[in-house]
Amino acid sequence: MLSRNFSLSKHNTFGLDVMAAYFMAITDTRDLKKLRNDRIFIEEKRMILGGGSNCLFLDDYYEGLVILIENKGINIVSEDNDTVHISAAAGEDWTFFVEKMVNAGYGGVENLSRIPGKVGAAPMQNIGAYGVELKDVFYSLQAFDLNTGELVNFDCNDCEFGYRTSVFKTIYKDRFVILSVDFVLQKNPLLKLEYGAIKQKLEDLGVHKPNIKDVSRAVTHIRESKLPDPKILGNAGSFFKNPVIHNLVFDDLKKEFPDAVGFSNNHNTTKVAAGWLIEKAGWKGCRKGDAGVHKNQALVLVNYGKATGREIYSLAMEIQQSVKEKFGILLEPEVNVF
Ligand code: FAD
Ligand code: NAP
Repeated sequence: MLSRNFSLSKHNTFGLDVMAAYFMAITDTRDLKKLRNDRIFIEEKRMILGGGSNCLFLDDYYEGLVILIENKGINIVSEDNDTVHISAAAGEDWTFFVEKMVNAGYGGVENLSRIPGKVGAAPMQNIGAYGVELKDVFYSLQAFDLNTGELVNFDCNDCEFGYRTSVFKTIYKDRFVILSVDFVLQKNPLLKLEYGAIKQKLEDLGVHKPNIKDVSRAVTHIRESKLPDPKILGNAGSFFKNPVIHNLVFDDLKKEFPDAVGFSNNHNTTKVAAGWLIEKAGWKGCRKGDAGVHKNQALVLVNYGKATGREIYSLAMEIQQSVKEKFGILLEPEVNVF
């Protein structure tokens, strides 16, 4: 049912007190087909919403239609001795999906444990953590084209996955509603333990021969110890992407700042830790009114209570400007701004 003046305060992890002029929760394709014929759909601007964990609303009133994705279902499509092909509805909670796969012994998504949000948003920015990206386990997805009303299948190439991006974040933004995502998971997975503090955490937990459940547990522990819980302190995870720069530029940066944190990519580029840049520019733990930079992780902007979307955004722009002035590197927001 289409609602008017619907509060989105429980639907964005910054905890912003935002109202949508029009709102509809979608549980299947028929809802979308019906909605396409509605005057509101035709006349108003619109946005697609999952768990709201990667969104920043600038104003306290969204003058348009919010389409919330709430379809459910996780099914095995096929399996053999080594792999299992799973299809998950876009409205399923990502953490619930990962836990279900880990408990069933299907490997591939354990490093992506505890990322907030829904399954349908995962391809949007090719979610990634601890050396694994969605594209590593992705098979295909089905989406509803809001322009034509048709269902379209996308394979991995069609999605043009990149570092925290895909066609859904670029050329097809707000056009396709992702309805389901298909994954290929492994029954005898190779664990990825090289990244960050996973090995150390497994050691701390006394695990010597880890399985996927242990990895998921280790990742959960690390995340809980480092990241603010949006239920307690509003945030949308990393506000900016890690910038990727030419190796020569990084060499110059290293000369000036020997402690600069960067990771060489395969080609001529280095990914610089945006958190390091922001911290080095003096922003870690800073607070302006109720908008702030988290005290443990400078990449995460937080809402201490009553910050507005514009206050958080203007803090982000100040940080962007100061990092540009100090290092000559432009930070690009990862969060979707509406
Ligand atoms: P939303 O915030 O609702 O939407 C995000 C974008 O996707 C919007 O542009 C929206 O229009 C679009 N969208 C949503 N659903 C659909 C759909 N079905 N079809 C088409 N478009 C859609 N991200 C990572 O990559 N790695 C991390 O480790 C990580 N850690 C995080 C930790 C915390 C504490 C928080 C708060 C966030 C973190 N994030 C991380 C960011 C966020 O969780 C992910 O980007 C997540 O996939 C967003 O899901 P969502 O359902 O909340 O999307
Ligand atoms: P971390 O382990 O302290 O590492 C800091 C940065 O260095 C990360 O951004 C990571 O890049 C990079 N990095 C670390 N080890 C690397 C390696 N071996 N090879 C290449 N790059 C490496 O980071 P953290 O803040 O605690 O986060 C841990 C993981 O969770 C990271 O993968 C991060 O992306 C993910 N995370 C993402 C969000 C979000 O909102 N997007 C929020 C919280 C955590 P990458 O970011 O490219 O991995």
